[in-house]
Amino acid sequence: MFIGHIGLALAAKRATPRASLGTLFLAAQWADVLWPIFLALGIEHVRILPNGRPFLQLEFISYPYSHSLLALVIWGILFGVVYRAVAGGRHTLWILAALVVSHWVLDWVTHVPDLPLYPGSAKYGLGLWNSVPGTMGVEGAIYVVGLIIYLRETRARDRIGRWAFFALAATLVVIYLASTFGSPPPSVRALWMTALSGAALLILWAWWADRHRDATM
Ligand SMILES: [Zn+2]
Repeated sequence: MFIGHIGLALAAKRATPRASLGTLFLAAQWADVLWPIFLALGIEHVRILPNGRPFLQLEFISYPYSHSLLALVIWGILFGVVYRAVAGGRHTLWILAALVVSHWVLDWVTHVPDLPLYPGSAKYGLGLWNSVPGTMGVEGAIYVVGLIIYLRETRARDRIGRWAFFALAATLVVIYLASTFGSPPPSVRALWMTALSGAALLILWAWWADRHRDATM
């Protein structure tokens, strides 16, 4: 899942208007930020299936530290605690922690059974990925609702606030379609490099556009 996570991050602006959209992106995608790092370090493992159908081009052999439920609960609390120490705000801790953990829940709906509850546990996943229209319908709906909520909660202060945000929203859709229907990455190395640089770019972009928008309330 990709833009579904982003949709939840956008919607979270309603619950925590002071947090930057960049922070919310980072929290919702935390598992997918750690994952390429752990792949690069050889701690987690993936196999590329060159002839895989859309959404099924990667076999997640093992990713207990970025994608088990237990790991994400711990990461979520750490994320919230660090945020509170840096930026303050009491209940933001729990919203950010919930966003980090929400990644597991959304992935659980879409992935085939490859998500552990804790390192070494049995693996779970409802397999919505087996249906391309089903996956795109669910993810697309979460994304659109998230966009609507974010656009109601914030107002562009200037042209950057308007156009940088709309360009970001459109780019996310393009990336989603390209990664779904494009050919799989040529190597695991190319995969983690693209995943990590893409996540960094999108998080910075979200932070930048959000800085040029004000809360409406
Ligand atoms: Zn993930």
